[in-house]
Amino acid sequence: MKTTLLLISGALLLHTTSLNAQQQTAEPCGQVEYQKQLEQQHPGFREQMDRVYRMASDYANGVSLRKNIVADTVFTIPVVFHVLYNNNAENIPDSLIYSQLFALNRDFRKRNADTTSIRTLFRPRAADTKIQFVLAAKDPSGKATNGINRVSTTKATFGSFNLNDDMKFSSRGGTDAWNTAKYLNIWVCDLSVQNIDALLGYAYPPVDAPNWNSGSFPPSPEHEGVALHYKIVGINNPRATGSLASSRNGRTAVHEVGHFLGLRHVWGDPPNGVSGCAVDDGIDDTPLCASQSSFDCNKSRNTCNTGAGDEPDQVENYMDYSAHTCQTMFSKKQMNIMRFCLVTFRSSLYQAEISSDTFISGIRMFPNPSVDGIITVEIEPALLGKHRYFLTLTDMNGRLILDAEPCIQMSQRLDLSRFSRGTYYAELRDENGNIAVREKLLRF
Ligand SMILES: [Zn+2]
Repeated sequence: MKTTLLLISGALLLHTTSLNAQQQTAEPCGQVEYQKQLEQQHPGFREQMDRVYRMASDYANGVSLRKNIVADTVFTIPVVFHVLYNNNAENIPDSLIYSQLFALNRDFRKRNADTTSIRTLFRPRAADTKIQFVLAAKDPSGKATNGINRVSTTKATFGSFNLNDDMKFSSRGGTDAWNTAKYLNIWVCDLSVQNIDALLGYAYPPVDAPNWNSGSFPPSPEHEGVALHYKIVGINNPRATGSLASSRNGRTAVHEVGHFLGLRHVWGDPPNGVSGCAVDDGIDDTPLCASQSSFDCNKSRNTCNTGAGDEPDQVENYMDYSAHTCQTMFSKKQMNIMRFCLVTFRSSLYQAEISSDTFISGIRMFPNPSVDGIITVEIEPALLGKHRYFLTLTDMNGRLILDAEPCIQMSQRLDLSRFSRGTYYAELRDENGNIAVREKLLRF
């Protein structure tokens, strides 16, 4: 396969590859260039991002004691799509947004039918990340919304040589983010550069801004989110033709949200001049590989020989540049990275649901997981009028922590902060011993 490198203005490097001159495939992702840009604007960005990634990969590899704590929790992230349009074509229909959301949930929850094409070697590593997405139901002012924010713009394109993030600011022809601590913001806009559809998306990685290195200044949170080219949003977008034809199954967004949640490309993005096999993505269930796939599905590809136990490149991974029809999995350690980054650096972005048994409705325990160890037990007044409730709490070893503590108020504070981090089991019973709620509580 012939690979062409296209250098525009020396700033934004866009790769294209082609089977022939007529059939070109655009690079899906401007992530590496975007990060270089952020480093220029915010010196220390790269170091901060690397620090966060080391913490996340340590966790993913099981070095951290927190291993598996969050395994059963489903994290649900509210999403707002900002559709910025300069013409009718860019004002993409709701149906494409809905199908994009479907594609995110299909792939993050491992509900994609094409997992059958994952090689036997890698199939046990494919993860249901238990991260899912809903369209925001309320806007930042509390008003009902369908999660789609349409804004007309006079700007012809938001694609630029230096990935300047104009789409994220009303003052620059875009539209301001909704509180990035509460929503995943996805800006859908024209990302073409000089009429070339080579840049399809990029994402803001977790950098733990509150702990920014002294002496440098953190980027503002208004930048956080994902930018997508309007032509590749959703499934079977009618604009995804020609060079974009292989980007019709919504997987550019899957890849970019992976970056947003802390993932790197499977080849580790080595700096210029460094051998690809010298740099890894830091986790061992995505085999060491030297470079990106060439937008194909070459399952005999093996770019780094690691000796005993050597494995081929995992071209099935969403974080490679293989053909989108070839990309069918996140690995379990990638899942760990994303879940760690969510809980640690984007902790107000999601709602957590634990698989638990609720025998009667009207009782809630939240937040769960709890970062500071404080959990509120809320009981509806109508229930308190009929019963008295008692709370029992045990740790993972079955040790009793609280024994039949009366819960007689509508809102009761449960303080786990003095206990070590981990999983606890709460049982709320009425005065007759009938279980009302059994819940797994997570204390981070
Ligand atoms: Zn990427």
